[in-house]
Amino acid sequence: MDNIILNDIVIKKNIVFYHFKVTGETSSFFRSDTMFFEFPCDVSNIPQSVLVLPFVASVYSLTWFNNSILWVPEIDRTFLMSLRDVKQSFQEMHYDFLFKGKIVPSKIIDNKIDRSDDAILLFGGGVDAHCSFIRNKSIISRILNVQGWFKSLDAVDKGADDDFRHCKLFAESQNIDFLYVRSNFATIINSVKVDKLYSKKLRESWWHGFQHSQAFISTAMVLAFKYGVSNIYIASSNTTGDQVACASDVTTDSMFSFAENGRVFHDAFELNRQEKIKIIVDYQKKTGKPYPLKVCSFNDHNCCECEKCFRTIIEIVAENGDVNAFGFDVPSSLKSYYQDVVYRRIGLWGIGFESKIYWSKTRKRMLENYDNIQDKEFVDWFLNFDFDKAHRQGLIRYYRKNFFSILKRKLNL
Ligand SMILES: [Zn+2]
Repeated sequence: MDNIILNDIVIKKNIVFYHFKVTGETSSFFRSDTMFFEFPCDVSNIPQSVLVLPFVASVYSLTWFNNSILWVPEIDRTFLMSLRDVKQSFQEMHYDFLFKGKIVPSKIIDNKIDRSDDAILLFGGGVDAHCSFIRNKSIISRILNVQGWFKSLDAVDKGADDDFRHCKLFAESQNIDFLYVRSNFATIINSVKVDKLYSKKLRESWWHGFQHSQAFISTAMVLAFKYGVSNIYIASSNTTGDQVACASDVTTDSMFSFAENGRVFHDAFELNRQEKIKIIVDYQKKTGKPYPLKVCSFNDHNCCECEKCFRTIIEIVAENGDVNAFGFDVPSSLKSYYQDVVYRRIGLWGIGFESKIYWSKTRKRMLENYDNIQDKEFVDWFLNFDFDKAHRQGLIRYYRKNFFSILKRKLNL
């Protein structure tokens, strides 16, 4: 059996280094032998049995795939016990792949956090996180953004910086604390290699299917312990009825617990994206203040030209919201603006899958809420436009225009 052995944890004020050794074939899954987490505060007084949690949660599920052992010097008892339930939930999600592997601590430590009324919300700045914030506003004392894609401590990541700025501004506007953590937990594992071996059998990738949520939640546990907050909230990205095997699921996230009273809440699984937008639009109308969302995955602002931006705009319109109040800088005639955008860009939109899952719920809501929607010109166009046909035509235009560069790429010239 292969081993992942955590040798020691070195703390330098707010930065924690996890030095480990990997044996056998499992070592080829790792790009480095040091994982780091940079916290927004001094963590030197936090017990090692709690500090170890982000490391454990970032790598433990790898041991399930190839029956290896994760060895750690010490671990929090409540967390260790909860891992059994977490693993069982993942096993039920992936019923046709037997999860093996185990974790072996040298010492099991009893830590205790007192029950608190407040919560830390994991916050990426998208629709899910904003909805969970609004729904649980009265108890959320801090929001936490975790970035795991750094290669080193001095690396620069533009996407992470953009998220940082958006989340910080949001926290300031809401008068709550903003916590930010940088780490290499995502880059340290060679996910291409892991996926090559296992993603077909598991029908899931390492990052989406196993790592991300566990790493985020366990990072939040360290800060929850630091600030005496016993509740961690994570917004659901999926919805009741969607059969998606995602690392962040109500049956897995909610199984985590720590330091006796520490609990994790996977929030708003019962709501679909359109229903979440309704909560956000209603809230914005109630406060009368702008409520900037950052949904675009390709830019530091909402580009208003990608499918994700467009999707959010149609969802806001379906609730009769003013899209300009939500950080979308678009002209007043949405119809003429999007006729042009769709012509230029739709070939690159992944509308097959997206339209199936999201647009159909928005169409339904538009019809249901039709009388209350002011921008009927845009809604009528959206409801009647043949996006599939436009997508096919857009693709042909794209291939014609880029024929030689695509050919060059395919031939590896
Ligand atoms: Zn965009």
